[in-house]
Amino acid sequence: MPKRALKDFTKGVPIKSLRDGEMLGGQVGKDKVLLVCRGEDFFAVGSECTHYHGDLTQGLLVGDEVRCPLHHACFDLRTGEALRAPAFDPIPCWRVERIDDKVFVRDKIDFDKTNASDREQKQSDNAATNHPSSVVIIGGGASGFSAAEMLRRKGYSGHITMVSADKTAPYDRPNLSKDYLSGDAPDEWMPLRPRNFYKQHKIELMLNMRVASIDGKKRTITLEKGKMLEYGALLLATGAEPIKLALTGATKSQVMYLRSYADSKAIIQKARAGKRVIILGASFIELEVAASLRTRKVNVHVVAPDHEPLERVLGPQIGKFVRDLHESHGVAFHLGETIAQVKGRKAVLKSGKTLDVDFLVLGVGVKPSTKLAEDAGLKVDNGVLVNEYLESSEPGIFAAGDIANWRDAYSGERLRIEHWVVAERQGQVAAKNILGLRERYDLAPFFWTAQFGVEIRYVGHAKKWSAVKIDGNLKSKKCAVTFRRSRRTLAVATVNRDLKSLEVEREMEIASRT
Ligand SMILES: Cc1cc2nc3c(=O)[nH]c(=O)nc-3n(C[C@H](O)[C@H](O)[C@H](O)COP(=O)(O)OP(=O)(O)OC[C@H]3O[C@@H](n4cnc5c(N)ncnc54)[C@H](O)[C@@H]3O)c2cc1C
Repeated sequence: MPKRALKDFTKGVPIKSLRDGEMLGGQVGKDKVLLVCRGEDFFAVGSECTHYHGDLTQGLLVGDEVRCPLHHACFDLRTGEALRAPAFDPIPCWRVERIDDKVFVRDKIDFDKTNASDREQKQSDNAATNHPSSVVIIGGGASGFSAAEMLRRKGYSGHITMVSADKTAPYDRPNLSKDYLSGDAPDEWMPLRPRNFYKQHKIELMLNMRVASIDGKKRTITLEKGKMLEYGALLLATGAEPIKLALTGATKSQVMYLRSYADSKAIIQKARAGKRVIILGASFIELEVAASLRTRKVNVHVVAPDHEPLERVLGPQIGKFVRDLHESHGVAFHLGETIAQVKGRKAVLKSGKTLDVDFLVLGVGVKPSTKLAEDAGLKVDNGVLVNEYLESSEPGIFAAGDIANWRDAYSGERLRIEHWVVAERQGQVAAKNILGLRERYDLAPFFWTAQFGVEIRYVGHAKKWSAVKIDGNLKSKKCAVTFRRSRRTLAVATVNRDLKSLEVEREMEIASRT
């Protein structure tokens, strides 16, 4: 079917066709534009999310913000600013003019020109406030990067050092098990920012460098190579590391784990040479690896002790749906099983069944990298304990991401979870609090997974639930699954119900703030 031409907003849109709070998609020249009416105001902004190009016309309007249906990035309609990760770049904005009963979208707004004096004012205001003399960030992942970016966005002019054990500058970790592993995403897509970003923003990036210790009283850190750095404020963003398993008989070169860019590259190398893989574990990353390696025509066997994949997090219904999806693409499951031993190119399962294998990918969980925090005497209990401002028990030290254990404003429970968007948003909030802005972290947890072209989005967090409500049909790949306890919604998983996912996130946000 030929595509319908988009409405040309330069020719004017009748006001009566735009109801308050409604979004209209159209174009200005070659740009796709979203036109919104908020009371007496009209806004025209780019309709493509700057994270993964989600169509914002299918998203959710919340006050003067628009939220992306794909991974819940959030933009300011007045300035285009990416208010919340996973997007960082703003969307463009256009000037809108109202003439009689029509609105016309005119030229693109150049905020660099219009706001130059505002920005200069903001910077001098910032200098006047009590900012830390310097900020050291330990970790160059999701939360470390987001914090550094936010510090500069908020006009912080002190020294920022980001120390990362990784050899590579911050990159799109979720893609390591998805399009990058399947061969659908090139290396150019992977960095969160090009290398010159760090230079331009005066963020000192110390890669391939491990921090050995922290002295919270003296406000110093010591690198493994011995060098000492002082800090005014410190962000701990060391993430998590895969739990290693001693697998009887398996050689070191046969066993792979996936956490880093280098790990993903190593698995790709293995998949080029060997065509039979066993994946031990059936949680999100392992299933994504299974899907990506199938795309590479590798013979995939998933071995896991569970009854259904993902069952512990998403319940048996979604578990079965995901298993069917994988089986229809040729993945073989061995559930209620584990690997007893490996003998050369054979793996013997607990039941005695034998599988041919060239290499194995083990995914038996991760543990938060809290050793530095423990050694420094910070309070640690399943992660670094932080308050609602993401401050640890030691003044001047904040923690964010996979290592942070915070009290979730919606459920009232302490949580430590491993989600990309949570880590990024915590990094952003920690940065603001390092600058004294006192912003509570009260956002609903959100994650997504993508397997064989099916995306599941999940909002909230349900450790244990007593009822599951399925709205729609999993088989037709369009549904929302609600997890409840005592009639309270704990979490909602959706497949092709993206607006619903955004609405649930918003409801949880409101409930958290009242
Ligand atoms: C393959 C894969 C796929 C994923 N897919 C998804 C997904 O689809 N959706 C989702 O929501 N989540 C996903 N996740 C989870 C998500 O990536 C993590 O929750 C997120 O990266 C956590 O961010 P972080 O900043 O806490 O830690 P990380 O991003 O892991 O960064 C930690 C950093 O700390 C550094 N570090 C550790 N110790 C030291 C030290 N002593 N000194 C210096 N540096 C140190 C590390 O080198 C690293 O740079 C995925 C994770 C993986 C591994």
